[in-house]
Amino acid sequence: MKNGHQFATLAVHAGEPPCRVTGALDTPIYQSTTFVSASADEMAAVYGEEKFGYMYTRYGNPTIRALEEKVQKLEGGEAALAFSSGMAAISSAILGYVKAGDHVVASRSLYGAAYNFLNRKLPRMGASTTFVESTRVEDFEKAIQPNTRMIYFETPSNPVLAILDIAALAALGRSRGIPTVIDNTFASPALQQPLCLGVTVAVHSATKYLCGHGDAMGGAVIGPKPVIDELVHEVIRDFGGVISPFNAWLILRGIRTLHLRMPAHCSNAQQIAEFLDQHPKVERVNYPGLPKHPGHEIAAKQMKAFGAMISFEVKGGYESGKKVMDRVKVFARAASLGDTRSLIVHSASTSHRAVPRDQRLAIGVTDGLVRLSVGIEAADDLLQDLDQALAF
Ligand SMILES: *Cc1c(COP(=O)(O)O)cnc(C)c1O
Repeated sequence: MKNGHQFATLAVHAGEPPCRVTGALDTPIYQSTTFVSASADEMAAVYGEEKFGYMYTRYGNPTIRALEEKVQKLEGGEAALAFSSGMAAISSAILGYVKAGDHVVASRSLYGAAYNFLNRKLPRMGASTTFVESTRVEDFEKAIQPNTRMIYFETPSNPVLAILDIAALAALGRSRGIPTVIDNTFASPALQQPLCLGVTVAVHSATKYLCGHGDAMGGAVIGPKPVIDELVHEVIRDFGGVISPFNAWLILRGIRTLHLRMPAHCSNAQQIAEFLDQHPKVERVNYPGLPKHPGHEIAAKQMKAFGAMISFEVKGGYESGKKVMDRVKVFARAASLGDTRSLIVHSASTSHRAVPRDQRLAIGVTDGLVRLSVGIEAADDLLQDLDQALAF
């Protein structure tokens, strides 16, 4: 693909030229663990990286390579590496930078497993993290130490949809010589391209919007070529979080409609957020597309649309939150997000049940908080479903 093509064209074509040998238009699933060489010399050259070639799927595979090239082009980065899951991508990106004695500054409003990795796993290796509770860039700056090696954040954040100023955090990192790493899962590159705003590395749970259909797990890291090369040589080969060629192929297929799915997701979400915001049983709605959301203006500046994740506090607390869950008929009571189907989760009794209540409240995960991943069904059916679910 030529550079300069628009997002929709890249989503369809990038990384996927027709097969030169067979003419196969769709990318074949190279369901092979190993690859043969024509001679001992050629094999030595491939292993020595003097000659391009595939050798073993943990080291690279043509179907996986296609996925890497597609996400790299969509994020506008230099290079990309695919992983078996979002957490494999996140832990690898962090391990690619952070060594014993290093320090990370991270936003506190993070996907639970990413928080746990930084909070519990890094200390085992002699590295530490300072978590920043606010969304203010000055507070990130104050948390920087002489040994800070990374600023890690996500926006919009899970599950409270906090918005951080991407360009400002990227500028802070650059001014102090500290790489910035963003989890871009909630927005996807269709809505937000952090590398174009100066962030060093973007990570993804490709399980979510990139795949889009809730049928494959995967992850990706996109960033400067030396960083990705380091991950190839020092992390994925030895830690082994490699994606299967079949899952890579499912995600490739999903991405080809990303630019069509995202506007449909976002339009449904905007209507639902406005409906919930007016509803007498709803205490509060977290959605950056509502003008009263504290991050609305920053989101409008850095996102093409406001995404399709919403959380809202049902009046009546814990039991009321669970009641809404029990009463929905179109929304599926299920974790994950970014599926074509609408999903609903009561955070306090599920994803955040292990977090002590005072800490949970401090990060905005209140007792009646319900999180929606708004799908691409008809908006009216989703609105009616929530309307009847709240009528108790
Ligand atoms: C799901 C998710 C992850 C973890 O990804 P997996 O593919 O489940 O490993 C990380 N960050 C965010 C924001 C997510 O939604």
